[in-house]
Amino acid sequence: MHNAAAAALNLDIVYLPLPVAPNQLEAAIHGLPALGFHGVNVTVPHKQAVIPYLHHTEPAAHAIGAVNTIKIESPISGRPTTVPRHTPPVLSGFNTDHSGFLADLQQQVIAVNGRDCVVLGAGGAARAVAYALARAGGRVRFYARRLVQARQLAADLQRHLPHAELEAAAWDELQETVTLPAPLIVNTTPVGMHPDEDVSPWPEHLAFPSNSHVYDLIYSPQETRLMQQAIAAGCGASNGLGMLLQQGALAFEIWTGIRPPLEAMANVLFGPVRR
Ligand code: NAP
Repeated sequence: MHNAAAAALNLDIVYLPLPVAPNQLEAAIHGLPALGFHGVNVTVPHKQAVIPYLHHTEPAAHAIGAVNTIKIESPISGRPTTVPRHTPPVLSGFNTDHSGFLADLQQQVIAVNGRDCVVLGAGGAARAVAYALARAGGRVRFYARRLVQARQLAADLQRHLPHAELEAAAWDELQETVTLPAPLIVNTTPVGMHPDEDVSPWPEHLAFPSNSHVYDLIYSPQETRLMQQAIAAGCGASNGLGMLLQQGALAFEIWTGIRPPLEAMANVLFGPVRR
């Protein structure tokens, strides 16, 4: 999708996948300015580990504790011969998962302010999602199979967002959500992701709270078992493609200063017709 945006804008840049072993992360990051990179995305398992190698981390990425986008300001980025080389490069870390998630909720007109938000899972994506929901005025409750981890996550975020409503509960307490009025339920676990498409994090026997909207961060398959359950129960359902698109567009803008054409990027992700 980044290459499609660059082509649509006639920019001479290219986006490449570069697998990096955990024990090579520091060397890889330090080599980026010399190679002329304007920026990179960082994904699992490097989103937290990369932070010590950056000069700046924006407040949201700091609160979430994870960086997925790095901007590199360097005298040699793209212009190796015309700029003095003695100025040291500056690497800044951002998190566009939380803002991309929020942008997609806005795009789909899914309300958050004052709403109960049930977050399934307490890993890296849950941190970004919960930060976005809490900042937007949602009441967030994590459900995780490791209650200690979920409580720690709620407490970490609470320190950065003292006025937010954040709670944690054990997975086997999910049935208590049935009384919530029209909650937003967000799956941040990988349960149901290709190739294990037949499983769902939502127990088959458990009713959905009425008028729920289920947002599954998974985008492969495009309709997960969880989404099928929600639709069969008369609830709304979204997959993670919109978040993927929006976090990518925000990263592109951080690197280039140009808001990319969403349609060109979406055509690559969704095909010419979206959802
Ligand atoms: P992660 O850090 O590994 O966290 C996964 C969470 O799911 C953990 O809390 C884990 O619990 C829980 N979990 C895993 N298997 C489970 C199970 N069988 N039952 C209950 N809980 C389970 O992974 P992540 O980086 O947050 O990513 C999670 C998902 O979000 C992935 O599918 C990823 O592709 C997706 N994602 C999508 C986007 C997007 O743009 N749409 C962006 C980011 C992530 P334990 O700690 O107990 O294992």
